[in-house]
Amino acid sequence: MNISVLSCEKCCAAFIPPKYICPVCRHDQLTTKPASGSGTVYSYTTIHVAPEKFTDQVPYHIVLVDLEQGLRVTGRLTSGTPRIGKRVECSRVDGSVYWFDPAGP
Ligand SMILES: [Zn+2]
Repeated sequence: MNISVLSCEKCCAAFIPPKYICPVCRHDQLTTKPASGSGTVYSYTTIHVAPEKFTDQVPYHIVLVDLEQGLRVTGRLTSGTPRIGKRVECSRVDGSVYWFDPAGP
């Protein structure tokens, strides 16, 4: 699925929300645009001791994903075992949490 990213109206740099000004050129007019939710795992960690709210979900995997646009986003892996370089696809965005499904080998 596509995700929403912010794009600077002046220099067209793109970012993951929340941002209030462009970190590249300091312009304050940002627009929400769709972007591909496909990417590869840059790094990951497995959570065994979680905050109280998530204790029923351990162990779970937090992945750092490089999206096709060159943006890096933190998310949760819905299933499978994380591996650096693994292809993933965003399946839902829950508030500020990005959920990724494994995609391909
Ligand atoms: Zn800018």
